[in-house]
Amino acid sequence: MANRLLMLFAAILASAVAVSAQSPPESKSPVSLIAIKAGKLIDVDAGSILSKQIILIRGDKISAVGAGLTIPPDARIIDLSDMTVLPGLIDCHTHLADGSEDGNGDPLTYLKKSAAQIAFESVPNARAMLYSGFTTVRDVGAYRGLNEVAMRDAIARGDIEGPRMFVAGAYVTITNGAGALTGASPDVTLPFDLRYGEANSPWEVRQVIRKLAGDGVDLIKILSSGAVLEHGSNPNSQEFTLEELEAAVDEASHFGLRVASHAHSAQGIKNAINAGIASVEHASQIDDEGIALAKKRGTYLVMDIYDEECIQAAGKAGAIPPDFLAHDAELGQIQRDNFRKAVQAGVKLAFGTDAGVCPYGTSGKQFAFMVKYGMTPMQAIQAATSSAADLLGHSEALGSIRPGKIADIVAVSADPLSDVSVLENIPFVMKSGRIYVGSVALSHAQ
Ligand SMILES: [Zn+2]
Repeated sequence: MANRLLMLFAAILASAVAVSAQSPPESKSPVSLIAIKAGKLIDVDAGSILSKQIILIRGDKISAVGAGLTIPPDARIIDLSDMTVLPGLIDCHTHLADGSEDGNGDPLTYLKKSAAQIAFESVPNARAMLYSGFTTVRDVGAYRGLNEVAMRDAIARGDIEGPRMFVAGAYVTITNGAGALTGASPDVTLPFDLRYGEANSPWEVRQVIRKLAGDGVDLIKILSSGAVLEHGSNPNSQEFTLEELEAAVDEASHFGLRVASHAHSAQGIKNAINAGIASVEHASQIDDEGIALAKKRGTYLVMDIYDEECIQAAGKAGAIPPDFLAHDAELGQIQRDNFRKAVQAGVKLAFGTDAGVCPYGTSGKQFAFMVKYGMTPMQAIQAATSSAADLLGHSEALGSIRPGKIADIVAVSADPLSDVSVLENIPFVMKSGRIYVGSVALSHAQ
């Protein structure tokens, strides 16, 4: 009985936490009623486009969608009759909580700033992300462990503006691995939050995940190959053993957490998929065996095929260390070619940009590249909406415009199915029923 009560209490607590992470600040005020007149609406679940739809929004949720719905007299009308409406976008690979972009690729930047400095510097990153149409992100790690947990909660409380965040909290990495802060002298002991996720055996992996779960993360980020933007790292290498990766997936599952694995190398990718992770990040050198394996296991690939543009441009300007640039030059085109192969093979793909590599607020530029390398515009939009929500495990609340889901809605003035690059500039952004961008829409409100 005591056990049952405890379990019940835990379940209530868990649901309260889940709700608090998603409740907008305005939910305390009286429930508002909004009716959006959508000229066109992209139904990402059906892969079709609908005309002349009415979307009714009560508080932070969508209550009804359809043609010819009666608009209640007390509803505030937002007229988007000349626009195309789609679900709020989701970027499944961001780093919003690592401070400003002035590090010039030097990881030791983090030793020159306090955690508080980095946190405050990160505030504009979150705002830029939301204002560019991304209403949800999966934030896959920060060098200052747990910074992104604090950022997620600050946004959920309404203290700062930003997308709804699902966060990894820290990088689970081998010593000197792709998620470690490298480059310091060996006799320097880093502060605990700069080496929070370091682990070197299955049991150390489990210990780190137990700590992260206790600190309230939403997913686990592990790194199973070397990295591009890391001193002394080789993206072709394999990091962690299969046994360690399996321990990560098993331990994470005890807390209901999914695992995302950074991997560039073919073997690092296959190890991660075989261990049962939910998504491979980057997946640059995935081979035919890896593609077949991902398809068989239903593993998502999150391939950041745009950011090469920013890395090479910064390299030309002398802002990236030569070793980072050499890693990237090898991998950029290989990753894009493999993205095309994965699309053709029908592997699950979710949208993720590694935001922070390119300036915050420019994630939308990746859509055109996803289409250039084999996706239809609809597939690219689905990757950033319904598929992304599926990867997050929150299809019930996010990823499409359906009754009962959270009112995350964006609109553009041209049809993105004809020209997906219109998603680079989004003039209407609503998150949880509240408008953040929308001078066009507001001028039409009655
Ligand atoms: Zn990343």
